[in-house]
Amino acid sequence: MKIVYHPRYTEIYSSDPAASPGRMEAILRELEREYDFIEPQAASEDDLGCVHTQAHIESIKRDKHLYDISCLAAGGAVKAAQIAVEGEASFGLIRPPGHHASPDHCWGFCYFNNIAVALAKLQNENLIENALILDFDLHFGDGTNNFFEGSEIKYFHPDTRNRDEFIEGIISRFQEDKDYSILAVSAGFDRHVEDWGGQLTTDDYRTIGRLVKEAAERNCKGRRFAVLEGGYNHNVLGRNVKAFLEGLA
Ligand SMILES: [Zn+2]
Repeated sequence: MKIVYHPRYTEIYSSDPAASPGRMEAILRELEREYDFIEPQAASEDDLGCVHTQAHIESIKRDKHLYDISCLAAGGAVKAAQIAVEGEASFGLIRPPGHHASPDHCWGFCYFNNIAVALAKLQNENLIENALILDFDLHFGDGTNNFFEGSEIKYFHPDTRNRDEFIEGIISRFQEDKDYSILAVSAGFDRHVEDWGGQLTTDDYRTIGRLVKEAAERNCKGRRFAVLEGGYNHNVLGRNVKAFLEGLA
């Protein structure tokens, strides 16, 4: 298991909750003694251009700091995906998040769609044919869905406020869907009982990680990676990420 992380992710690039001071540090404290860390490079404009319109890229570029950090986040997802393709599980401890970024617009603390940039790059380089994306964030990843609707990359966001149904939904999707070259996860932790969603326990994140690992081992040679999306209660975020990674590893 590798953690993809860049020290610049602690920089404060906006005033939204994903960019709040101390958020990355809360996760780092839980992970830094447990795992190997790898530093990514920023995604190139060409990488972004595979999924975003030039007008959208230019609109983010108007804020140089935001653009630089957003390119680094997308580069972090690319690195995590590349590690996964080679057979090792990985987690992109990145921000800003990405799943509300569409080809030509963005909202919800997102600027570029990190997981979409990563999967499009793997696909363009013929490293994968298709993919399954599990998004367990509290919020529907409209951006990711907009990129891949109708394509061979499938997007899945379990949609229920019932905890048992949520876990069952993941289990049954993994039983039905077996055709993918890589399993990618938009890992948002804002569904936790002490976060905005008030739904999942810390142990549930360990279970979800294990389900991802088992599905990847059955169907795509164990190729699996996750990237951070939401999660806003700094008091529990670190232990939730750690529990998920214990299942995923
Ligand atoms: Zn969210």
